[in-house]
Amino acid sequence: MTNSKLFSDSKKVIPSGVNSPVRYFEPYPFFTKKSNGAYLWDVENKKYIDFCNGYGALLLGHRRKEIINAVSNQLSKGTLYCTPTEAETELSKLIIGNFPSIDKVRLVNTGGEATMTAIRLARGFTKKKKIIKFEGCYHGAHDSVLVKAGSGSAHNGISVSEGGLDEVSKNTLVVQYNNIEDFQKTINQNKDIAGVIVEPILANMGLILPEKNFLYDLRKITKENNIPLIFDEVVTGFRVSPGGAQEHFGIKSDITTMAKALSNGFTIAAVGGRKEIIDLLSPGGKVYQASTFAGNPISVSAAISSIKTINKLKNKLYSKLERFNLLFTTALDDMATDMHIAHQINFTASMFQIFFTNKPVINYETSKKADSKKFQKMFRTLLKKGIFIAPSQFEVVFLSDAHTENDLNKTLDAYDAALKSVKN
Ligand code: PMP
Repeated sequence: MTNSKLFSDSKKVIPSGVNSPVRYFEPYPFFTKKSNGAYLWDVENKKYIDFCNGYGALLLGHRRKEIINAVSNQLSKGTLYCTPTEAETELSKLIIGNFPSIDKVRLVNTGGEATMTAIRLARGFTKKKKIIKFEGCYHGAHDSVLVKAGSGSAHNGISVSEGGLDEVSKNTLVVQYNNIEDFQKTINQNKDIAGVIVEPILANMGLILPEKNFLYDLRKITKENNIPLIFDEVVTGFRVSPGGAQEHFGIKSDITTMAKALSNGFTIAAVGGRKEIIDLLSPGGKVYQASTFAGNPISVSAAISSIKTINKLKNKLYSKLERFNLLFTTALDDMATDMHIAHQINFTASMFQIFFTNKPVINYETSKKADSKKFQKMFRTLLKKGIFIAPSQFEVVFLSDAHTENDLNKTLDAYDAALKSVKN
C-alpha cells in the first residue's frame, strides 16, 4: 500500500482523512506503520527521525523499554476494571510528589478533559462565571477555551468554532500573552472572574517563552484578587522538569492540568491542585466530572513507569536534552544567519521553533506575522529528507531521550537543505 492510496481510502470514511486536524498536510500525510526510539516508519518503508514525538508526549522516545514492560505486565492482568485500584493511588502520590502545589489529583483521559474540569472547578469554587485566557494559548477543543486559540485552530484560521456556543465563549475574556498591563486592566474592569488559565510556556503558537516576571506578576495579581490560577501543563508537565514549568519557575498554581509526557504515549491526563478546590469534585462535592476510562489500568501503569523513569534519570535526562537543544539551535541560528534569512529561534528545555521574521516572537500577533509559507516549504524539504516535525508553524519541535547526536547531525544537514529551499 502507498501513502497516496491509503489517503484516498481514508478520506472516504474519515473526515478529511485524519482523526485530528493538525495531522493533515498537503498533498497528503504519510501513514505510519511502526515506531521505535526516535523513529517512525511509513507504509512505504521510509524512515523518519521523529521530532513531533506525539506532540510532546514521547519525552522518553517511542516504545521505551520500561514503559512497554509495565504495560505488557498490566495487559496480562486486565485492561479495564471500573473499580478503584491501588495503582491509581500510587500514581496520584507520584504526581503529588513531583508537584508540590498539588494536594489531590483526579485522573482523566485527555488534556481537553483536564482543562474543562479545571475551569468548572474554578467556577464551582468561586461561584463566578468568567474566565481569562491568553491569545494563542490552546487548552483543548471545548467551547470555553476555543477562543483565539493556538495549535490547529490558529493554523486553520478558526478562532471560535462553528457549532460552538457564543453564550459560552462570551464568558471567556482574552488577554495578550506577556502583557501584564492588559491583564491587570481586565481584572480591574471585571469583578466576575472565576479563574485564569495559562500555558506557563506557550507551546501552541510555535514556542513563546514567558517574559521575565510575567508569570510571577500573574501569580501575584490572581492571589491579591482571590482568583484561582490554572497552569495548563499539558505540554510542560514532566517535559520542562520533573515538576513541570512550575518547578522550573518556582511558582505554585492553584490548579494544574497535565497529560502528554505524564505517560509517554498512553491516553491519560490529570487535574490536580489545592485540596479545598479539588475536593469539590463529585461525588463528594458538587462539581460534576466523570469518565468510564479514567484511571484505566493500562494508562496508569504507563504513567507510573514514566514518572519513575523520569525521576530516576532526573538531571541526566534534562541536562542532556537542554545541551542537545542548545547545540542544535545555535547551529541552526548560525546557518540561517549565514544564509541571510530573517529568522527567530525560541527555545527552552527540550523544545524549540524557528520563525521566519525579523521581529522577536513574544505573542499571538508576532507569531502570526512570521512567514508560514516559508515554514511550509521548510517542512516539506525536511520531510523529503526523512525528518518529521509537526506540520505547522504553530507547533513545536520536540526532542526526546531517544535522539542521538548522530540523529541531530543528520537533522542539521536536512535543515541546511530546508533553509536553502526557503531562501530561494
Ligand atoms: N493544553 C495544551 C497546552 C495542549 O497543548 C493541548 C493539546 N495539544 C491540550 C491542552 C489538549 O489536549 P488533548 O489534545 O489531549 O485534548
